[in-house]
Amino acid sequence: MGEHKDCLFCSIIAGDIPSEKVYEDDTTYAFKDINPQAAVHVLVVPREHHANVAELAAADPAQLAHIVEVAQSIANDAFHGDYRLIFNTGADAGQTVFHVHAHVLTGQTLDE
Ligand code: C5P
Repeated sequence: MGEHKDCLFCSIIAGDIPSEKVYEDDTTYAFKDINPQAAVHVLVVPREHHANVAELAAADPAQLAHIVEVAQSIANDAFHGDYRLIFNTGADAGQTVFHVHAHVLTGQTLDE
């Protein structure tokens, strides 16, 4: 919980590392992925540090539900409300940053 030393996304949320902000509120921050995999690729993160989506769901389910609301809102603005929401969980599933983040892919038809 709180800000974790040596956590890339805690540093981005704190403004110590620049990012392209898409949305923010008291609990949640959203920014453009630096290596986009779709026309719109946004990462939605809780300000509080949790390592992955399972830990977030256990500790603060309302925050997880809020991340889904923010994803929906981004897709409503960018496209017509359709989006793909991905939480890579664990290194062998492709998770590289261990501060939970929702990948929101939208802005185009996603074929696969
Ligand atoms: O799910 P995973 O942990 O692999 O996702 C990390 C994501 O963070 C990647 O899509 C990567 O492009 C993104 N990233 C970023 N800004 C950084 C470092 C990584 O948007 N400074």
